[in-house]
Amino acid sequence: MNTLKTLVFIVIASFFTVNAFTQVSFSSQKLSLTKQRFYDIQLVEQATAASIFINPELSFSNTYLIAETDTFFLIKDSDFSEINRSQLIVFSNPLKNIRLYTGNLEGGVTLMTQFVKPLSISHLSLRQKADSCDKPAIIAASEWRKGLTPPKEAPVKTTVKHVIVHHSAGSNTTTNFLEAVRNIYTFHTAPPPNGNGWNDVGYNFLITQDGTIFQGRDGQGIMDGDNVLGAHFCGKNNGTMGVCLLGNYNEVQPTNVAVKSLINLAGWKLGKEKLPIIGQFQHTDGLLNIISGHRDGCATECPGSNLYAKLAEFRQKITLICTYTNAFITSVEAPQTQFFKIYPQPSSEFLIVEALGDFSEKNSPQIFDLQGKNIPSEFVYSTENQWKVSIKHLPEGTYFLRVGTEQKGAKFVKF
Ligand SMILES: [Zn+2]
Repeated sequence: MNTLKTLVFIVIASFFTVNAFTQVSFSSQKLSLTKQRFYDIQLVEQATAASIFINPELSFSNTYLIAETDTFFLIKDSDFSEINRSQLIVFSNPLKNIRLYTGNLEGGVTLMTQFVKPLSISHLSLRQKADSCDKPAIIAASEWRKGLTPPKEAPVKTTVKHVIVHHSAGSNTTTNFLEAVRNIYTFHTAPPPNGNGWNDVGYNFLITQDGTIFQGRDGQGIMDGDNVLGAHFCGKNNGTMGVCLLGNYNEVQPTNVAVKSLINLAGWKLGKEKLPIIGQFQHTDGLLNIISGHRDGCATECPGSNLYAKLAEFRQKITLICTYTNAFITSVEAPQTQFFKIYPQPSSEFLIVEALGDFSEKNSPQIFDLQGKNIPSEFVYSTENQWKVSIKHLPEGTYFLRVGTEQKGAKFVKF
C-alpha cells in the first residue's frame, strides 16, 4: 500500500443547495487529483453520503474512500450507466471529513455529497420467520421515507417474471440501515446533477444485513409495490422485480438473516405469480433465469461474486421450502405423497421412488415438467417396492413425479 499522503487539497469550485422542505441538501466539489495519493478532504457541509463523478475516459482503479473506519473501494455505478460515477457511499454517521486514495485515478473529478437528515427513530428492524414462503414482514416506504419528498406519480405496473438480485456495494459494517435506505432513495430520486431524477428508488425491495426488508418502489395505493416497474436492470426493467442486499458481496458473504429474507421474499413473490423457481423465461435479450443477478443483464460486478455464486443454492432452497399448487396436479406434496416418496433431494443423476403402501409394477412413475408436459423417463431398475429412475437427461429445474393414475404428484429438484 502506498503511504504517500498529502493534506494539501484544492477545491476548484463548490456548490451547495438546500431543500428546506425535505431536510435534504447537496454539495459538489471539483477536485484535481494526482495518481496514488491520499487526500484528506474537508467537505463543504456535513454529509451522510458521497459519490465521485468522473469523465468517461477515466476509471476507478484501486481507488478507495475512507469514511471514519470504513474503507470503500470505488466502482462504477452500473445502476445508472448514463453517468460515469462511483456507487453511492453512505456513511455510518454524518461526516465533515473523508479521505480519498486515488489509486490510478487522476485529473479532474467531482465529489458529490448529500446530507439527508436522519430520522429520529433509532432503529427499524423486522426479523423474518424461519424458512417461510408467506408474505414477509416489510417496512413500508411511508415509514422510512418520512421527511423526504414523495415519489413521483404514478407508478407503472409490470408483470413480474424475473427476480433480479443486486447489492449496494456499500458498507459491510454499518448498522445504520434506515439511513442507508433513505440516502439511496435520495440519490435515486433527486434531480440531476445531484441524483438520478428517477420517479422512486430504483429497487422494489432493499434487504439490510440484519434481515430487515424495506419496501422500495411505492405502489402509492394503486398497486402492490412488488408489481411496480423499477429502475435497476440495465434499462431492461420490464417484467422484473429488483431486490438489493445492502453491502458489498465481492468482499464478504451475505449474512444468514439477509439470505433468509431474500429467500422468503423471492419465494413469496414467485408463489404469488405462480412462477416456477428454477427455469428460464424470455427477457429482452433472450432467455433469463427466473432468479437472476444484475450481472446477467449487462457488464457489472453487481450483485458481487459471493452473492451471485449463491443464486443456484437459493433456488434449490426456495424449491424445497415453498410448495405451490400446480394446475395439472390436484395437490403437490414434496417430496412425498401418501403412496410414495422420492429421494435423494435434490439430485443430479437418479431418483429412488419408494412405495409406502400398495405399489404394483404396472403403475410406472411418470415425470412432468412445470407446464405439465410428460417427459420420457428411463428406469435403471425396479423392484417390488422401488424404482430407480435416471434423471441425467433432464435440464436443471423443478419437476413433478406421478405414479400411475394417482392425481397427487411429488415434487423433485434436478440440479
Ligand atoms: Zn445492481
